[in-house]
Amino acid sequence: NISASTTPTLSQDKLLGGLLSAAFDESSCQSRYKSNLYRKPSPFPLSPYLVQKLRKYEAYHKKCGPGTKRYRRAIKQLKAGRNVDNAECKYVVWFPCNGLGNRMLTIASTFLYALLTDRVLLMHVAAEQEGLFCEPFPGSSWVLPGDFPHNNPFNLNIDAPESYINMLKNGVVRNDDPSSVRASSLPPYVYLHVEQFRLKLSDNVFCDEDQAVLSKFNWMLLKSDSYFAPALFMTPVFEAELAKMFPHKESVFHHLGRYLFHPTNRVWGIIRRYYEAYLARADEKIGFQIRIFPEKPIKFENMYDQLVRCIREQNLLPELGEPAANSTTTTAESGKVKAVLIASLYSGYYEKIRGMYYENPTKTGEIVAVYQPSHEEQQQYTSNEHNQKALAEIYLLSYSDKITMSAWSTFGYVAYSFAGVKPWILLRPDWNKEVSEVACVRSTSVEPCLHSPPILSCRAKEEVDAAAVKPYVRHCEDVGFGLKLF
Ligand code: GDP
Repeated sequence: NISASTTPTLSQDKLLGGLLSAAFDESSCQSRYKSNLYRKPSPFPLSPYLVQKLRKYEAYHKKCGPGTKRYRRAIKQLKAGRNVDNAECKYVVWFPCNGLGNRMLTIASTFLYALLTDRVLLMHVAAEQEGLFCEPFPGSSWVLPGDFPHNNPFNLNIDAPESYINMLKNGVVRNDDPSSVRASSLPPYVYLHVEQFRLKLSDNVFCDEDQAVLSKFNWMLLKSDSYFAPALFMTPVFEAELAKMFPHKESVFHHLGRYLFHPTNRVWGIIRRYYEAYLARADEKIGFQIRIFPEKPIKFENMYDQLVRCIREQNLLPELGEPAANSTTTTAESGKVKAVLIASLYSGYYEKIRGMYYENPTKTGEIVAVYQPSHEEQQQYTSNEHNQKALAEIYLLSYSDKITMSAWSTFGYVAYSFAGVKPWILLRPDWNKEVSEVACVRSTSVEPCLHSPPILSCRAKEEVDAAAVKPYVRHCEDVGFGLKLF
């Protein structure tokens, strides 16, 4: 009963089994406690080890975060060009790249990396991202203060001399004998560029010897366009720790995402109003996310036809009856309401599906109500208001009992992963075709896909297929060479 789930009951664990810290003031960020009441309980048990690790991290962040004397000292050393030995606090600073879905995936990956390497995670929050998320760590902030000296995201690119790979190429650092590298002999910071290049992570740094060298830098700047968490699992030095944190490897983003991302009260207002107005009383909620990528345009008719094929083949919505048949026979399903939530930049899919159920009854007597919160027409990476709507829609989708999404979309990945629901993925047509023969396939995991896997063999020349040798990754349904944890 969905409406019952919107009313908090004592038995519902507000802190999600210890995933969330008890140290926050509830009213400052209502979504932290309310959002999960709109969803079914998580299907993935939380490891007590992860809980312990998060509490330890929070204490570390509070000790070393912005506003502390340790932070001021670390900034002073950075400005003075020094990387001291045995630093008490180390940092990784996240820089944004691409749209909101991509950003959420890379923030979660960077946080996991911070947990594994004892770094404090700080975020360069651009204007378009301001006021979207609550602070996730109690008694501190994850926002990079404005006076940070290397604050220009445009200087962070594959050619930056501070990039680790360029440092290796230029002989500034060496990775052949990491134990002999002294921190104080290194530059004051390193830039880690984890971007895909021709659908491979540009340079593989997920190797033990590189991680040993990288760990000696007190400041790391990181920019990525990829969900690189699976690459951390493939780094031998992290394997044991990750196994303890995530006995269910499929739950990495599901748990870290629910821990980190909480819409601010302003965005939560949008989400809550919409949910209560249109979704709360439905018997079943079904989310459709239709994303058309500029680099792979698909004609509206073809995409719509594919969506309808998927709906029919997977029985996602009731079949239509005859318009004139005002049947008096009732079925067990009669009168039940299926709410369809459509997220798309365009209104066409909504218009047609709504029209279908407006003009025709269903064979079962079920009611299909179709909604679309916004249709922004264009994606606008740099508009704050646009991002608020995007975030609201990711959340609204994540309350669905069933999700169907467009292949390749990180926006959809975040939604189904929050939900803990395996989606149906609307496949992309083959490169030389306009239509996909197969309408949709069910994902085998609720993990997002890493579109651009690293070369597993590190320094060795030959390529190894990670999915063939690692039992916990497989290729993604929508991106054949991509990898996802399961
Ligand atoms: P991806 O490009 O699909 O992997 O997802 P991203 O979230 O990284 O980038 C797409 C951006 O386009 C989003 O962040 C939004 O700004 C916008 N966008 C795409 N689809 C939708 C949608 O259905 N609703 C809204 N509000 N915005 C969308």
